[in-house]
Amino acid sequence: MSEENIHPQFHRFVAPGEKEKLLGQKGVVFWMYGLSGSGKSTIAAALERDLHDTGRFVVILDGDNFRHGLNADLGFSDEDRHENVRRVAEVAKMFASQGVIVVVGVITPKNSLRDLARRIVGSKFCEIFIHASYETCASRDPKGLYAKVAAGQIKHFTGKDSGFEEPENPDLRIETEDVQPAAAVEIIKSLLP
Ligand code: ADP
Repeated sequence: MSEENIHPQFHRFVAPGEKEKLLGQKGVVFWMYGLSGSGKSTIAAALERDLHDTGRFVVILDGDNFRHGLNADLGFSDEDRHENVRRVAEVAKMFASQGVIVVVGVITPKNSLRDLARRIVGSKFCEIFIHASYETCASRDPKGLYAKVAAGQIKHFTGKDSGFEEPENPDLRIETEDVQPAAAVEIIKSLLP
């Protein structure tokens, strides 16, 4: 179908502001990125628990969950990583524009991919670099991936044979070798709109 025949429908009867009022919060996207094992999922879960307990509505968009479902057709080539980020960002935007606090955890290894996500989400985008060294992530190895990489069983692994660009100006950088998840939650909460 040609794009000219597609007519997106937005807030026909219920305005976004009304949803934010109902939820008692403002929509935002906390886009957390970094190496596998850096702590994205751990911090996302702790943040969700904390915000939920104070009456906020949170949706977590986890890269691994996307890759099992909506993005099951994608691999780890540059093209597929781009499409992976594009889809997650589009979903994040839909939720945030309707008042939801969206917590994303996706590796997002290149500045161009972070720029893409920011372009899609717009002003509600908040970029949070979750950092630990490759060696630390490998020693944590929560999913057993680093052991497989060392055994030569995984190709295109971020930080090894697929590059990770350090960001220059993230809204926040959290060093998980020093900062515990509970402290990370407090820091991220300070960015809530
Ligand atoms: P990612 O989602 O980035 O792949 P995970 O959150 O799944 O990473 O794994 C991070 C691992 O590191 C977990 O086993 C977690 O318990 C551990 N960890 C140790 N210290 C920290 C910290 N300060 N912040 C977050 N995770 C930590």
